[in-house]
Amino acid sequence: MSFSIHGLAVSRGIAIGRAVLVASSRADVAHYFIDPTQAEQEVQRIRVARDAVVAEITRVQRELPKEAPPELAALLDVHLMLLEDEQLSSGVKHWITDRQYNAEWAITTQYEILARQFDEMQDPYLRERKADLEQVVERVLRFLKGAASPVQPPAAVTGRTQQGELLGDSLDVPLVLVAHDLSPADMLQFKQSLFVGFATDVGGRTSHTAIVARSMDIPAVVGARSASALIEQDDWVIIDGDAGVLIVNPSPIILAEYGFKQRQGELERERLSRLRHTPAVTLDGQKVELLANIELPEDTAAAVNAGAVGVGLFRSEFLFMGRGGQLPDEEEQYQAYVRAIEGMQGLPVTIRTVDIGADKPLDRGARQDDHLNPALGLRAIRWSLADPPMFLTQLRAILRAAARGQVNLLVPMLAHAREIRQTIAMIDHARAQLDNKGMAHGPVKLGAMIEVPAAALSLKPFLRHFDFLSVGTNDLIQYTLAIDRADEAVAHLYDPLHPAVLRLLADTIAESHARGKPVSVCGEMAGDVAMTRLLLGLGLRSFSMHPSQILAVKQQVLRADAGKLQAWAEQVIASDDPAQALLAAG
Ligand code: PEP
Ligand code: MG
Repeated sequence: MSFSIHGLAVSRGIAIGRAVLVASSRADVAHYFIDPTQAEQEVQRIRVARDAVVAEITRVQRELPKEAPPELAALLDVHLMLLEDEQLSSGVKHWITDRQYNAEWAITTQYEILARQFDEMQDPYLRERKADLEQVVERVLRFLKGAASPVQPPAAVTGRTQQGELLGDSLDVPLVLVAHDLSPADMLQFKQSLFVGFATDVGGRTSHTAIVARSMDIPAVVGARSASALIEQDDWVIIDGDAGVLIVNPSPIILAEYGFKQRQGELERERLSRLRHTPAVTLDGQKVELLANIELPEDTAAAVNAGAVGVGLFRSEFLFMGRGGQLPDEEEQYQAYVRAIEGMQGLPVTIRTVDIGADKPLDRGARQDDHLNPALGLRAIRWSLADPPMFLTQLRAILRAAARGQVNLLVPMLAHAREIRQTIAMIDHARAQLDNKGMAHGPVKLGAMIEVPAAALSLKPFLRHFDFLSVGTNDLIQYTLAIDRADEAVAHLYDPLHPAVLRLLADTIAESHARGKPVSVCGEMAGDVAMTRLLLGLGLRSFSMHPSQILAVKQQVLRADAGKLQAWAEQVIASDDPAQALLAAG
C-alpha cells in the first residue's frame, strides 16, 4: 500500500531506496555489505554466536539453585526457545545470503521485524516476550562483538548506486535508513556508510542530527513522527528532502516522476560545479567570503572541492562523541587539528572549542535527560569552564596546531563578561603550560560565537576582547524564541525571520563593522539560499556553511547587487511580517 508521511525537510535532494529500520539503541551496530563468497562464513559466525549463548543459558539453567523461583527457569526456557526459533534463524540467513548484510546487521534487522509482530499481538503475555527477544539478541550481539570476525568490514563503505534496479530484487539496490531517533554521534558513524537517505521520527530542522545529515549531503527528512512505526523493513521509500515528505511503496508513476526529479537535481549540481573557481563577488563588486562548516578533519576534502576559502566552523565536539566517555587526549586532538589544517592546504581553519550538551551528548547512553532543561544547562563553554583540565587539554592542542597553519579559535555560547575573562585566562594559561614544556605553539585569532540573545544585546566586551565574531543563528533563534531546536513539536515556531531574530542579527553585524571587527554567520541560515540576499543587504560579507551549500549560495551572491539590497533589507527587518516582505520581493 502506498502512503506518504510529512516531516521537516533538512537535507535537499531525492533519495529512492529500500528501508532499513534501525532501532535507536542499535545504531552503533556495524552495517556493511559482505562479499557474496563470505556469506557461508558469516552465517556460520552467527550460528557459533547463537550456540554459545544457548550453551551459556543451558549452563545457568543447570546450575540454578533449588530455591530459585520457578519463573526464572521458565524465563530461561523462553530465551532458549526464542534463540532456536526458526523465524529468527531463517530470517537472519536470508539477510546474509540474499542481501549480503553482515551478521550484526542481519540479526538486528530480523529482530526489528519480529519485534513488530510481538507489538501487534493481542495477548499481553505474548506481547511482553518482545523484551526477552531483545535480551537474547543483545547477548548474541555481545558475543559477536567479543569474537574475532573472519569477515572484515571495509574501511569506508561507499554508497551503492542510486541506479539500482528499482523494485526488482537486485542486490545492488540503494538503501535508506529509517529510525525513531539518531544521535549526532550515530549520524557520524553513518557518515561514510552505504545509505542514500535518512528519515527519523523526531528532530528539528537545526537539530544536530539534521546538521550532520546535511553535511553528508544526502536527502533527509526529520520530525516524520511515526515513520519508523509505519514503514516496514524493506519497503520502498522515496525521501523528498526538498519538500520534507516520505512516500512509502510508491506507484510506478510516482516513482518515475521522482526519478525524473532526481536526475534534474543531479544536472543542477553539475551546472553549479562550474562555479567552483569563480570568485564570490556581487554584481557591484563586493567580495564575499564563503567558508565551510565541518565536523571531522576529513570533511576538508569536500570543503576544498566546493571552493571554500577556509573553514569557518570546525565543530570539534564530534571528535569527543561516541567514545564511551573516553575523551581524546592532547596528542589525538592535535593530530586531528593538523589533519584539518593540512586538508585546507594553507587556507584558514576556525576551530570551535568543544560544544557538548543539549542535543549533542557525549554518548547516546549519556543523553542529558536527567537534566531538566539541557539546552539551558551545562553546555558548550559552560561545560569547558566547569572542567579546566579537559579545556586546557583542548586549548593546548589547538595552540600547538596553530604552529602548523592559520588557525582561528572560536568559543561557543558565551554570554557573560565573566566567562570571556575566564576563557581568555585559560588560553593564556594553556600557552604558559606549553612554554614551560618547551613546546611550539602558534598565534590564533580569537573569535566569539554570538548565539545567546544576552550576548547579542551586550556586544561591547565581545568586541573589545575578540578579533572576530561569528553568529550562531541556530542557537540564537532557539534562545530568542524559547523553542527547543531539536523538538519537532515546536518546529513550526522555529523562525529565522522573526523580527526579533533579525534585529539581533542586524545589530550584531552593524556593531561589529562599526568597530572594524570581522563578523560572519555560521548557523544554518548562512547556507540557506532563500536568506542570501537578505544577509547581504544587512551587510554580511562572510558566510560559513556545509560544503554542499557553498556553490548554490555563490550563485546567489554572483546575481546580487549588494548596494541595492541594503535599503530593501532594512525595510524587510522593519516590517511586521519579514517572511511576507521577503516573498514579496521575489
Ligand atoms: C549555531 O548555533 O548556529 C551554530 C553554528 O552552532 P551549533 O549548530 O553547532 O550549535
Ligand atoms: Mg550553536
